[in-house]
Amino acid sequence: MGLGPVWELRHQASEPPVPQQSESGIVLSQPVLERAVLIDLDSLAQQAAQCKACGLCQTRTQTVFADGVPGSPLMVVGEAPGADEDQQGFPFVGRAGHLLDKMLHAVGMNRRSNVYIANVLKCRPPGNRNPEVSEIEQCAPFLYQQIQASQPKVLFLVGRFAINALLKTEKPISQLRGVVHQIELNGRQVPAVVSYHPAYLLRRPEEKSKSWDDLLLLASTLNSLA
Ligand code: URA
Repeated sequence: MGLGPVWELRHQASEPPVPQQSESGIVLSQPVLERAVLIDLDSLAQQAAQCKACGLCQTRTQTVFADGVPGSPLMVVGEAPGADEDQQGFPFVGRAGHLLDKMLHAVGMNRRSNVYIANVLKCRPPGNRNPEVSEIEQCAPFLYQQIQASQPKVLFLVGRFAINALLKTEKPISQLRGVVHQIELNGRQVPAVVSYHPAYLLRRPEEKSKSWDDLLLLASTLNSLA
């Protein structure tokens, strides 16, 4: 897809970086490094907005790249934008999104301060149909680069498409819950907790107690890495 490298440090002419001298040589200040992540995710979002790699570009209102705070300890990965997300341009802003926000809030997390959120697909499948394998294959490199740029301590994968895309397994969620998985991305191991998709929980509220257990596992994993 011609996606460029993630760690490309670019400086804005109006704000020259302030390199600092350390005992070992020149080091970049933390604000410069943080800006590098943000600038790079911005350029990745622009690439996604122009992407025409699959047919979803013809039916999208706009791409839905991410929400929340890049660089957060937690990154949530969902499936694909629905109608609300397609209209508003942000992931998880409809009914399932409100439930996700409540779930995260229950373990002290929220997208305004310590969570970054993205989907496997950046464009809405028409009529909210399931993503196709070819669409996931075309779009997943954006997700991998988002993870690499945001460097979460832990991933929370909700629903089978996020799990398939990152754990590379077709096993049912019921068999994958309850343990912390390790995903290798560019030589880095990223812990991942899986759970049911909030849209599924809206249809099957009796499963919420299992997702609560998953949230507790997520919270304890995050705490153990803090
Ligand atoms: N479902 C998802 O998986 N992602 C969204 O952004 C909205 C609903």
